[in-house]
Amino acid sequence: MAPFATMTSAVAETVSEASIPSDWSKKPTKAEQEAKRKACLDAAKNDLKAPRREYIFSFPKGGFLDRYVDGCLNDPRDKPLFNMLMNTCCVSIPLLVGLFAFAPNNKWGHLMGLGYFLTHYVLFLHSYILALHYSSHRRLMKKGCSLEWFNLMAPYILCPMFGIPSGMYYLHHIVMHHCHDNCIPYDMSSTEPYQRDNLLHFAVYWLKFWTTIFFELPRFAFRVKLYRLSFMSVVYQSLYFTYVYKTFRYNPVVCIWGILVPFMFTQFMLAYGNFGQHQFVEPGKPSNYRSTFNCLDCFDNTKSFLDGYHVLHHNNSRLHWSMFPETFMKQVDKMNEEKALSFVKIGFFEASLLIYRGKLDVLADKAVTPWDASKQELIDIMKARLKPIKRDTKID
Ligand SMILES: [Zn+2]
Repeated sequence: MAPFATMTSAVAETVSEASIPSDWSKKPTKAEQEAKRKACLDAAKNDLKAPRREYIFSFPKGGFLDRYVDGCLNDPRDKPLFNMLMNTCCVSIPLLVGLFAFAPNNKWGHLMGLGYFLTHYVLFLHSYILALHYSSHRRLMKKGCSLEWFNLMAPYILCPMFGIPSGMYYLHHIVMHHCHDNCIPYDMSSTEPYQRDNLLHFAVYWLKFWTTIFFELPRFAFRVKLYRLSFMSVVYQSLYFTYVYKTFRYNPVVCIWGILVPFMFTQFMLAYGNFGQHQFVEPGKPSNYRSTFNCLDCFDNTKSFLDGYHVLHHNNSRLHWSMFPETFMKQVDKMNEEKALSFVKIGFFEASLLIYRGKLDVLADKAVTPWDASKQELIDIMKARLKPIKRDTKID
């Protein structure tokens, strides 16, 4: 007689197999595979010609300021990125100064603060995070030019307005996240140990993301022998806490709406974003093709400097964002061979929501790579890549 556990799993298998619609297991025909390959290329072409929505206004084309900026940009393809940061400087800094100067410490002050926060965040948060991201990977203004100081705006001046302590992003994202590609134990923001379709696991990740990072980041830099960065991260954090304390003493309303609410909101979005981008991770030897996924031809890509091409970004973090669609087209067969997951007409945010809701079949319908897998095989790949990963957590 078969042991009870074997019987139950056999019954469960029969039940789950019976509940799988027969066409889900059907291998795609050559024509269907070719159609998906073409859909990949079409999606990348659409991303290539889509309007840039990261900024609202630019300097008059051909005017003095426009030409001046062109002469200082390290790479002319970063004009939209400059415009995005310039817009934030022109709109959000005066609004924050206004809040400091005029907000009373009462309910009207809170109303002003809420107005400031909503305007600032709705207009700029999404695009700013990605502008900070890409300008941390590649220098924005030329070294030695008269606008070189503008390189400091995103990581030092605008950062605390968006809930990120000044000077910390480079260490967190470039040194910790990219050098260790979402792998434990070095990348403290790694998603590997979690069951990544479980909201409770995400809640733990989010809590750890913003509470422990103040200690973990300097500790990480020290352990990998980056002593200067470790020391500087302590200095930057001390300055940030002083700024919070002084502002609170000056006017609690300004501190709440100008610093604390942005901090809580952004840290949640950063945790949600990083968890989402590394929600599908293959166990075993990590490969960038299978430790993240691509979102093609979606609205998010027009607000985020094509952030959907995350496999390409991890493969080569120096690759210019404007080159993602073309590079994807060149590597489309490799994406399929490597079983990288690519979805069309959906961004990371919605893809994550589908994963948490267990709607992998809906996501499978949006998958264009790997195109040689049946719908059921795609679901199985996704399920396998959601499982927690254990590694040796000892740091040398
Ligand atoms: Zn990056």
